[in-house]
Amino acid sequence: MNKEEMLLIIHDTILNFRRKIKEPYVTFLEKKRFSHYLDLMELEKHLNKTPCFVSETKGGAVIYYCEDIINKLSKDLSKEKKKEFIEAVTLHELLHLWNGIRAKNDEQAIFSEELAQEEFKKFYPKHSQILEEVKQRNNKKLYKSLRN
Ligand SMILES: [Zn+2]
Repeated sequence: MNKEEMLLIIHDTILNFRRKIKEPYVTFLEKKRFSHYLDLMELEKHLNKTPCFVSETKGGAVIYYCEDIINKLSKDLSKEKKKEFIEAVTLHELLHLWNGIRAKNDEQAIFSEELAQEEFKKFYPKHSQILEEVKQRNNKKLYKSLRN
């Protein structure tokens, strides 16, 4: 799937989000820059498992996406499920915005992450499944590669 197709799905997801938030900007970054930003934010995330993240800037919230990573993570999925996957990762970031927590240390960051995941499971059970499926597929691949 290309960036333009992804953008349509992302904008629809933001438009249909029922909770009150200030509309975020959406931006795509090349993998190298995306990785650099993750480092700058000291996000404890594994690059290949993080397709997007949200950041508060002076001008408002920005959700950064990486086309490469989205495609890699959703590689074996049908077109419909790919769409669901992009909706799911977007909804997760929108919940972070809705919660409005600005974590200042690791403990707060973990809390913020757990809260968003809990809400996500509760509000979006169907989308929750697709994230779980992608996670399991990738763990399986990793396991295979480690065994060989
Ligand atoms: Zn999160």
